[in-house]
Amino acid sequence: MNFCRTMVRVIVSTAACFFSALSFATACSSLDQEIHVIPKPVKIETAEGKFVLTEKTAVIIKSRDLIDVGRYLAEIIEPATGKRVKVESSWFPRSGGIVLRLDRSLKELGDEGYLFRCTPRWITITGARPAGVFYGVQTLRQLLPVEIESKQKIEGVVWTVPCLSIEDCPRFKWRGLLLDPARRFIAKDYIVKYIDLMALYKLNHLQLHLTDDQGWRIEIKKYPRLTEVGSIRKESPMPGNRKQGDGKPYGPFFYTQDQIREIVAYAAKRFVTIVPEIEMPGHSLAASVAFPELSCTGGPFEMRTKWGIEPDIYCAGNDRVFDFVQDVLIEVMDLFPSTFIHIGGDEAPKDRWNKCPKCQVRIQKEGLKDAHELQSYFVRRVDKFLTSKGRRLIGWDEILEGGVAPGATVMSWRGIKGGIAAASEGHDVVMSPTTHCYFDYAQGKGDSEPEAIGGFLPLEKVYGYEPLPDQLSADQKKHILGAQGNVWGEYMWTPQNIEYFSYPRACALAEVVWSPAKAKNFADFVCRVKANEKRLDVIGINYRKLDGQRK
Ligand SMILES: [Zn+2]
Repeated sequence: MNFCRTMVRVIVSTAACFFSALSFATACSSLDQEIHVIPKPVKIETAEGKFVLTEKTAVIIKSRDLIDVGRYLAEIIEPATGKRVKVESSWFPRSGGIVLRLDRSLKELGDEGYLFRCTPRWITITGARPAGVFYGVQTLRQLLPVEIESKQKIEGVVWTVPCLSIEDCPRFKWRGLLLDPARRFIAKDYIVKYIDLMALYKLNHLQLHLTDDQGWRIEIKKYPRLTEVGSIRKESPMPGNRKQGDGKPYGPFFYTQDQIREIVAYAAKRFVTIVPEIEMPGHSLAASVAFPELSCTGGPFEMRTKWGIEPDIYCAGNDRVFDFVQDVLIEVMDLFPSTFIHIGGDEAPKDRWNKCPKCQVRIQKEGLKDAHELQSYFVRRVDKFLTSKGRRLIGWDEILEGGVAPGATVMSWRGIKGGIAAASEGHDVVMSPTTHCYFDYAQGKGDSEPEAIGGFLPLEKVYGYEPLPDQLSADQKKHILGAQGNVWGEYMWTPQNIEYFSYPRACALAEVVWSPAKAKNFADFVCRVKANEKRLDVIGINYRKLDGQRK
């Protein structure tokens, strides 16, 4: 059992922000004297004094397994301080060192927990595994002056860290976000910037929605036509007037396999798992544009230029479809080491299946009741294939309809009912309900907000989310792996849009999935977010300001 899920401890509050969230501007006036780590650590004990980074400060690693984390820390410190930071192995702690250690006996903190101690002479970060040390490094990053985020040397800053002890570990294993390059392509260079920011807040799963009716964004060597044809569309909905086309050809936009490898490797060094999503049986028009024989009607098709749901989906009565899907998944599994492979499974209208002779023969032959059970058949077949390759299938909660596949994990998005049903049956679940986790919803009211898909999800509501439903028993709750915020792409016209919709709501979600439930305090969180705005300014993020003003 995860130590952090069950522990009840005295949380040492680090900020005395006893005020309403609306009056943060005056109540958080002494920000610089406070500690503003997000997500809030499990336990902090403050002490007198400060550690100061100097010319002599080195990163000292006590295990070869920490070389990458040590170099990462040096790369964080060097640009802004202008100091060259040595990463060296040494058994003797020396003054001025930042010591990174592994202690396998710290099992109670789990793979991602860490101990952090700062004294005037040195800093030590200890974890049972490298991931824990990495998260201790993120805490160090947030304890340093915000200017540390600068890529240029900053003069006149004293690089101090307050003396304190921290004991910390996450409440949940899955702390995720989703990006949607299928609707609006997101360049590789921006994806890696997004990963950097996720790491700062100890988020560890990034789902990439790689295929949909409006675009196929991943190179598949066996089927080059997928991207030759499927990564281009005639036009897109017009910003501000979604019913009208913008008349601008879009694409070709896709990731080459080399680019995918670069993204995956970059993420791995930051302990972020990239979860690929290949949609099936619905949201698959891009594949049918390239290969019309994968559909029930045989086409021909054109790429969808509006958002929404497409009636033409893969034919479940055609074995060639399963050969195609498996070929694609083989290349996907080769690129993505993630245990979980997301197969979508949502919003698959059954109109075509109900009329398709091949699908009807399949229903009869397999003794299925209807088209919903045919979808279940489809998912089971893919689940069996992925399981045979040592991977695990995850899909949106529609995969429960007609019976959930034995190995499937469910991502509950249409509220939490699907998650409750799946966990009750012993399936693992990632919670991602529209009510609390859809970051494409508006976060403020009024004309100053950018166009959103609809809905309203303010920061406080995200922060108030509790991923463990009361309806589940203690044993069933163990199946809730965590939660994920989804930044769907329909209205994310630019990276700046993505940032505006993501932050600070992703910070709220980070605290939901990392910090102990009992430690949550929105007023205190708002205080830390306010201080955090300066850090995001230095990084260059177009976050939504707490006072609702656009930057
Ligand atoms: Zn069919």
